[in-house]
Amino acid sequence: MTSVDCDVAVIGAGIVGSAIARDVAGSDLRVVLIEGRADVGDGTSKANTAILHTGFDAKPGTLESRMVSRGYRLLSDYAAQTGIPVEPTGAILVAWDAEQLEALPGLKEKAEANGYQRCEIVDAAAVYAELPHLGPGALGGLTVPDESIICTWTVNLALATDAVNRGATLLTDHRVASIEVGDESTTLHTERGTAITARWVVNAAGLGADHLDALFGYHRFTVTPRRGELIVYDKLARALVDKIVLPVPTARGKGVLISPTIYGNVMLGPTSEDLQDRTATGTSEAGFEFLLDKGRRLMPALLAEEVTATYAGLRAAIDHGDYLIEADPVQRYLLVGGIRSTGLTAGMAIAEYVRDVLASAGLASPQRTDLPAPPRMPNLGEAFPRPYQQDELIAADPAYGRVVCFCERVTEGEIRDACQSVIPPATLDGLRRRTRAMNGRCQAFYCGAEVQELFESRSHTPPALTSSPESQP
Ligand SMILES: Cc1cc2nc3c(=O)[nH]c(=O)nc-3n(C[C@H](O)[C@H](O)[C@H](O)COP(=O)(O)OP(=O)(O)OC[C@H]3O[C@@H](n4cnc5c(N)ncnc54)[C@H](O)[C@@H]3O)c2cc1C
Repeated sequence: MTSVDCDVAVIGAGIVGSAIARDVAGSDLRVVLIEGRADVGDGTSKANTAILHTGFDAKPGTLESRMVSRGYRLLSDYAAQTGIPVEPTGAILVAWDAEQLEALPGLKEKAEANGYQRCEIVDAAAVYAELPHLGPGALGGLTVPDESIICTWTVNLALATDAVNRGATLLTDHRVASIEVGDESTTLHTERGTAITARWVVNAAGLGADHLDALFGYHRFTVTPRRGELIVYDKLARALVDKIVLPVPTARGKGVLISPTIYGNVMLGPTSEDLQDRTATGTSEAGFEFLLDKGRRLMPALLAEEVTATYAGLRAAIDHGDYLIEADPVQRYLLVGGIRSTGLTAGMAIAEYVRDVLASAGLASPQRTDLPAPPRMPNLGEAFPRPYQQDELIAADPAYGRVVCFCERVTEGEIRDACQSVIPPATLDGLRRRTRAMNGRCQAFYCGAEVQELFESRSHTPPALTSSPESQP
């Protein structure tokens, strides 16, 4: 049996767990980041609408509101340091009937209560001036100039890579199955038979957080997987819309939006449907009918464009109105639960908050001064230079001139780099999230065989344990 010893074990390598592991690894504490799947960022964090939210529509006074607006700033800065692509497209929330129009002043006030002062109410003419392809019948809107689009895959990978570079040990393919709480430490047993002994345990397991919470003796919440299905339209549709088109939010959530994507497409979605099955990330006929019906009204011209892909993600909705972040100093256990529809934006702020919670619970450790620079991530954004466009790069390394995936213009050099990176892909899907290969119009029909061959020849079996040379445990 393999055993690993550390100060802090973080369960779940989605955006939230990776951000926490990165933050804690910035101190002298020894950190292990444990993920049940074969890759980081393979849960909810890979399938969302990828909007960097200002937090204008959060419930004022909640922890979520604070975390989203702080997370917006932290992630914007981090994106600039690491090369995570972000486009400040802005958003317009559109009112389609008198009731929604009347709700706009209240939404503007709410934005201001959330610390966001830049919303403006505009009339229908101004809405159509910004969104000329919008369907008929819009009565007015609320502008949110700082809502942005971002690459959720790169966010997750950057945070996890940074955690490993700072000395954290990453264990993938290690689902935590049982725990033993002792007087001084807790031992986590994984399905692979590894025992991880930690002074403190952080539960950032997303959809699985309530099950782990129960292993610590709690029954304080239940996760309900709330499915969101989305349709991704071809890049030719991008000329139709350069802003995020938001509906007036309802009690069930943010509603169906139309948004440009960072990869140059346009998306329509998500749905919002409570399920029982926490693995039900398939799409459905009913979901598409619903979205097409909405899309027909929102932007009829979009429906004439070709669909590139469809996907679904599961929000970890809980029976509690806010994030649930609570420390148990006796068991040295911290729950980070209910991060349902804003965790991409809020992740780094949650990590900062967790640092303070751990310090007040007795686990204070000052930040190190010898931290490595944040990783420089490969650019997946359509609006920024990609390797195939850079003559000097190609002259220095011809692999960046050999395009393998023609829809997304991904080169052999990028696939090689991904396979040799700090956290290499474990699967073809992981390679897609690191390069965009097979993510385009043909959905791997033309490039799939070559990408697979390159992946197999370049990648050795990825280690389930990743640590940097100076990693402690
Ligand atoms: C349709 C949709 C749209 C969204 N849009 C946005 C948006 O535009 N902007 C935004 O900010 N947020 C958005 N979100 C929310 C955001 O995606 C989530 O809040 C965020 O990804 C949650 O991250 P996480 O790390 O908590 O969870 P996850 O990414 O799910 O990570 C949890 C990890 O824990 C692992 N795990 C679970 N149990 C165990 C165990 N026993 N042992 C080991 N590992 C375990 C899982 O495998 C998983 O990888 C959206 C969500 C959805 C579904």
